[in-house]
Amino acid sequence: AQKRGKVKPHRICVCVRKRPLNKKELAKKEIDVVTIPGNGAMVLHEPKQKVDLTKYLENQTFHFDYSFDEDSTNDLIYRFTAKPLVKTVFEGGMATCFAYGQTGSGKTHTMGGDFTGKSQNSSNGIYALAAQDVFTLLKQKRYADMDLCPYVTFFEIYNGKVFDLLNKKAKLRVLEDDKQQVNVVGLQEVPVLSVDDVIKMIEKGSACRTSGQTFANASSSRSHAVLQVILRRRNFLHGKFSLVDLAGNERGTDVSSNDRHTIVETAEINRSLLALKECIRSLGQNSEHIPFRMSKLTQVLRDSFIGENSRTCMIAMISPGMGSCEYTLNTLRYANRVKEL
Ligand code: ADP
Ligand code: MG
Repeated sequence: AQKRGKVKPHRICVCVRKRPLNKKELAKKEIDVVTIPGNGAMVLHEPKQKVDLTKYLENQTFHFDYSFDEDSTNDLIYRFTAKPLVKTVFEGGMATCFAYGQTGSGKTHTMGGDFTGKSQNSSNGIYALAAQDVFTLLKQKRYADMDLCPYVTFFEIYNGKVFDLLNKKAKLRVLEDDKQQVNVVGLQEVPVLSVDDVIKMIEKGSACRTSGQTFANASSSRSHAVLQVILRRRNFLHGKFSLVDLAGNERGTDVSSNDRHTIVETAEINRSLLALKECIRSLGQNSEHIPFRMSKLTQVLRDSFIGENSRTCMIAMISPGMGSCEYTLNTLRYANRVKEL
């Protein structure tokens, strides 16, 4: 084990992104309760009911590395979050970017672009933008001679089980050897020669993610999706970029979700998001014990939580409507806890 003082501090970047009110919210005349005053701050104007029943707003201010407003594009967000991490992967490090937030807050929009069965435009999400930069750097002189080969994996973690999105949702086993090396057995690692190749895989995996289920969106919102761009040098792992579209963080508090299946699902999601928070926090503290075994998600991402040259960014997505207040507060509190100490 290395001496504490010598370990290079892990860099964690935490941002929030507010989406615009959607048609449904506008139709309901929902009030926008989130403002962005500048300097990375985000303010939630939470309606409060006082004992004497007079309503008032309680302002809660949170500070992040960046707060993005509803006019920000994926391009802009990419530039300030995942883009700086691409270099890490070329330098032989591990980089991870998480999209966190309640269902409908914009996680998939940010990561995958607007891919739906109908409009296949996944070219403008962080997945594709990162892939673009990977191929740009591969051609640069200082990296061109390094003999680096790019590969892509795409999988889903649902209820603590791993499914390969590039291989018909095949269920995969996760094994850990005596050196704590974690291996997802049989995960397809597809060699890619161009950005177009990567986009094809994003579309294939995204379609696989939402197909074959009656409540396609509902079920995809209950799983974590992980796209990895891997660089190998003569077959040895050189660097890895994991881009994670997390399961919705809403708690199953509504009456409609009281069946056993949903309760188990929700417990598993809560557990994995808690594990993620703990793992990222222990990174920020350079702690020697990283509780990655707490969940399948953190176990599979173990090698991203160790190593001197690894970097993490989290983008927490915010729905601005008054009706989402409770979830928004949860999201802001979680993101706040994840920040480097
Ligand atoms: P999540 O993956 O968090 O459940 P989605 O990414 O599917 O949420 O977003 C829900 C809907 O809102 C989608 O129709 C998406 O296109 C739209 N949306 C999300 N974020 C934005 C944004 N920043 N600007 C415009 N539309 C957005
Ligand atoms: Mg989604």
